[in-house]
Amino acid sequence: MNTIVRQLPAIHELQQDERFIAILESKQVSKEKLTEWLQETVADIRRDILEGNWKVDESIPIRFHDFIFHRLSKRLSLHSTYTLRRVINGTGTVLHTNLGRARLSEQAIKQVFETAHSYSNLEYNLELGKRGSRHDLIEELVKETTGAEAAMVVNNNAAAVYLVLTALAKDKEVIVSRGELVEIGGSFRVSSIMEESGANLKEVGTTNKTHYVDYERAITDETAMMMKVHTSNFKIIGFTKDVPVEELKPLAAKHDLLLYEDLGSGALYDLGKHGIGQEPTVAESLQNGADIVTFSGDKLLGGPQAGIIAGKKKWIDQLKKHQLARVLRVDKMTLAALEATLKEYVNEETVTKRLPTLRAVLLTKEEIRNKIDYFVGDLSPSWKVEIKQDVSQVGGGTMPEVELATFVLHLSHPTLKTQHIYDGLRKGAPAVVTRIIADQIAIDFRTIEEHEFTDLHLRLKEFD
Ligand SMILES: *Cc1c(COP(=O)(O)O)cnc(C)c1O
Repeated sequence: MNTIVRQLPAIHELQQDERFIAILESKQVSKEKLTEWLQETVADIRRDILEGNWKVDESIPIRFHDFIFHRLSKRLSLHSTYTLRRVINGTGTVLHTNLGRARLSEQAIKQVFETAHSYSNLEYNLELGKRGSRHDLIEELVKETTGAEAAMVVNNNAAAVYLVLTALAKDKEVIVSRGELVEIGGSFRVSSIMEESGANLKEVGTTNKTHYVDYERAITDETAMMMKVHTSNFKIIGFTKDVPVEELKPLAAKHDLLLYEDLGSGALYDLGKHGIGQEPTVAESLQNGADIVTFSGDKLLGGPQAGIIAGKKKWIDQLKKHQLARVLRVDKMTLAALEATLKEYVNEETVTKRLPTLRAVLLTKEEIRNKIDYFVGDLSPSWKVEIKQDVSQVGGGTMPEVELATFVLHLSHPTLKTQHIYDGLRKGAPAVVTRIIADQIAIDFRTIEEHEFTDLHLRLKEFD
């Protein structure tokens, strides 16, 4: 192998190649940058040879120049694409926080396009011919789908929590169970956001058990609110006790306290009907007596990044008027996507087909198996193929205990190392994110749609 490595051409020699000169003349990239990429390309090839990722017949002279410029041109084409770009999600995790959470429905995408392309009535009441409010655009739909008296939208659910605490509990006490003081997604911590908001956290109970009397005893003249937090990404099991909203309702009423529930995911559709999880729906939380609820737009709801605040009109009106509402407001494309997403929920029958998030969560393992069989039919015979039963996750800190039965395509290559393929798939375009399981490339087809098959085939062909 070392003798092959020694045949790698020198950088100054490659710089004389007509292909190097042609790229420079096309002015797509500076000479310094191109030289840097050339050095990296040669170093990559050297490493591939030394690690045995290269199958070479030593009796035939290697056309190193061709190889190097082939790789360099791939690098160049990546450079001319966008930094934020499409990923084929082969992890099976439906709401993958690192991969942009929910995919939008066709209708939501159309609405975003239309709104971006034209002027719109973002803050203009067309009926009255005068200034309107952006909150009005989705308020009716939220009311209709959740039964809330009023609603508004901010940037994300973290912003929604922050606004509620700042506007309604600053310098006052907020009672929260110790079992619900969670951290979500590494950057959202209930205790920290409370501190930022200026509200005073009053912890009650223990990690595993909090009783009604714990709340009752904690109430003072300084108390403004009792807050329930959906623990989302973790679950305490065994010897546990928490006090549901409906039990806290009379206590809140007696002491004139606000009862607020941060639901996190914000299910508008009851997946429990299909035996998936026990996520409380927004409507249930409000029916049970929460004065205010907050939830994300891009978790189970299946829409754009947003934070929705729903509940009693008296409080929502106060939030809308707060200066922070202006700071945390959403833009027109978010509202366009959110309105289209919420509209889908008006029809219970079609919403599970039309929203990619619900569709992916509800896919059966047989449907996933069929997708894999169809995909494998066109796969090059150089891959060793296995199809295994497995489980996928909902993700996005939602229903961590739920395991969705799935089938996963396992691929291995006769000569290439699994890690090499795994890295290569991720770094190309469109990027393909997979997992390595038992030294094989594992692709869960729950999160791959048929319109992505051609691209996935092309990406795998690079390794044939
Ligand atoms: C996810 C989550 C948040 C944060 O929501 P973002 O939309 O990501 O800002 C807050 N609270 C709970 C309970 C959550 O699950």
